[in-house]
Amino acid sequence: MMPAANAVSPAPPAPLLDVCAATVRFGGIHALTEADFAIARGSVTALIGPNGAGKTTMLNAITGMVPLTSGDIRLDGADIAGLPPHKRAAAGVVRTFQNLEVFTSMSVLENVMAGRHALTRYTVAASILRTPGFRRAEAACREAALDCLEFVGLADEADTPAGDLPYGKQRLLEMARALAADPKLLLLDEPAAGLNSKETARLGDLIRAVCDRRHVTVGLVEHDMELVMAVSDHITVLHFGHPLAAGTPDAIQANPEVIKAYLGEDE
Ligand code: ATP
Repeated sequence: MMPAANAVSPAPPAPLLDVCAATVRFGGIHALTEADFAIARGSVTALIGPNGAGKTTMLNAITGMVPLTSGDIRLDGADIAGLPPHKRAAAGVVRTFQNLEVFTSMSVLENVMAGRHALTRYTVAASILRTPGFRRAEAACREAALDCLEFVGLADEADTPAGDLPYGKQRLLEMARALAADPKLLLLDEPAAGLNSKETARLGDLIRAVCDRRHVTVGLVEHDMELVMAVSDHITVLHFGHPLAAGTPDAIQANPEVIKAYLGEDE
């Protein structure tokens, strides 16, 4: 049967992450001013903008590393703006950083298990006595970490000291460690920085696979426009701490204000 002409279309699904009117000031510097930023569940959503536009500050505000001066941050409808970073991570918000943050003297596998340990429940006494419960939890942690290494293509390097991996593989290791924490929302801060074009293309495939195959929603801050346009479902453009435009990659690329403010820089 045809729907009635005046049928009300269903409301769009609530975003997984909803940042409303976020303002962050550092003394006299307004890093973010009343900035809205939403990430739809099951999407790869990019946040782009010129240097100093406030992208990293937005990620820091979402993860609790800098406090909001004012505004609101909701994850799955729950207010997380007042939570400390570890509680936001426990709620499912996990990030990687612009600069490499791997533990170079630990093995690749140990690095990923470290990302999983917050989810592993046992007491200090159980770990000292190596109780059956502790050994079961460690085995499950190891298995989950190996699965993440397999996913990023580093399973063969599990026992290699992380510091011996080439730079591009250390970046993949960071992704595996973040995935090991079982995020609902994975925030990637300039993951392509320092990668060559082949590594960047592989990273793009991996970001899509994180979203499409592991069903983890991705927020991406990135300067490599080719990568952003290739992997993103939606893009928000920040300019001087405030959103300038939001839309599909095609709409963003065709937006004259965006071209003037940002993409035009390269032309
Ligand atoms: P980039 O692309 O260069 O990484 P960005 O878009 O991530 O830039 P932010 O790093 O968020 O921009 O910086 C936004 C503004 O806030 C800049 O003017 C920056 O100098 C300032 N800022 C960021 N962090 C701090 C801080 N901890 N203290 C003072 N000012 C800061």
